[in-house]
Amino acid sequence: MQDRLSFPEKLLEAVEARRDEVTELTRELIRFPTVNPPGEAYTPCAEFIGDYLKRHGFGVEYIRGEGAPGDTDLYPRTNVIARFDGRVPGPTVHFNSHIDVVEAGEGWTLDPFAGVVKNGRVYGRGACDMKGGLASSIVAALAFMQVCPDFPGAIEISGTVDEESGGFGGVAHLAKLGYFSKPKVDHVIIPEPLNKERICLGHRGVWWAEIETRGEMAHGSMPFLGDCAVRHMGAVLQAFEDELFPALDAKRTVMPVVPEGARRSTMNINSIHGGQTDDFRPGLPSPNVPDRCRVTIDRRFLLEEKIEDVKGEIVSILDRLKRDRNRFDYEIRDLMEVQPTMTERDAPVVKAVAQGIMALFDREPDYVISPGTYDQKHVARLGHLYDCIAYGPGILDLAHRPDEWVGIDDMVDAAKVMAIGLNVLLRGGAR
Ligand SMILES: [Zn+2]
Repeated sequence: MQDRLSFPEKLLEAVEARRDEVTELTRELIRFPTVNPPGEAYTPCAEFIGDYLKRHGFGVEYIRGEGAPGDTDLYPRTNVIARFDGRVPGPTVHFNSHIDVVEAGEGWTLDPFAGVVKNGRVYGRGACDMKGGLASSIVAALAFMQVCPDFPGAIEISGTVDEESGGFGGVAHLAKLGYFSKPKVDHVIIPEPLNKERICLGHRGVWWAEIETRGEMAHGSMPFLGDCAVRHMGAVLQAFEDELFPALDAKRTVMPVVPEGARRSTMNINSIHGGQTDDFRPGLPSPNVPDRCRVTIDRRFLLEEKIEDVKGEIVSILDRLKRDRNRFDYEIRDLMEVQPTMTERDAPVVKAVAQGIMALFDREPDYVISPGTYDQKHVARLGHLYDCIAYGPGILDLAHRPDEWVGIDDMVDAAKVMAIGLNVLLRGGAR
């Protein structure tokens, strides 16, 4: 029966036949409580993936993110990279998934680490973000290898750590070692949960910084003898309200960011601390004029903006206050910066996955940009590899929520799209 099928149907059929496998794989992955922080159960989870792929002929390497934030003997940052070389040389397609998940949190109606299957869904922390995507990429690769055993090139599958905390012990570490660069790798697909009909081309940029205003301590009954750092910060926030936020709001981008509200520049004030800490509760505060006040800002910027200008905008407001406001002084510290990135729509990996989406759903994909960053930043910044997208099953809004789930149909469909993508990238779409 199978022999009568023409090529693409054969490939799709081979994925379909792995429906139970993708479900079971996802359940097993969820049962490793790879919660980050602190980075629980990374090693057994990586070894499970490694063992699984080794059984299918992959060569497997484990690379610890030594020296990365959080890496200790108790919580080693264990990454796994598996590679299967085809019979003749050719390009390499790499599927990268993070194995870490955020804490379960409150509000679950079922066990977040049991891998419960109900109504065609697998439930659990990390089901959609992104153990379901990892499982999809594995069955896509296995189905492709089974139907096209003579394929040229190579397939790599990695399970990496710490994406939820910046990816420094994971993709960044591996990218520094050359694992995400040519000629080792040519095309990268990151199966983050973005919906099976969407291709995510990249993300906006990020700048985190801490601003501190300075004052002078004095007795609270005689504030005129000191200088209140909190009032100075109030002036900073007022200037942000009056000029910065409206200006950011007006900056639009050609990047197709979803949700649409993020199709412009944004800034969040993450935290503010000034004066005595909250620790005194339920007692009374000591009457002091605070000499320090700090805010952390989270500025998300666009392809159209330069990081120097993004910083300059804030610094010029602070400098103006320094000129105009009596005794105003400040300091600003960079905490993190990431450039925005957007893969071209005619890049090979985009076109290959688009072909899969069109074959399966008979429609053009939606091309989107993520409002926040993910590991693609390290592939671009450190690996200098720009043929990279995020494509995977699952609904992004469910990520990090109670009762997170991934649809089994969605995983199978996404795996079919990935298998067709592999055929385009490695065999030029041959039948
Ligand atoms: Zn994720």
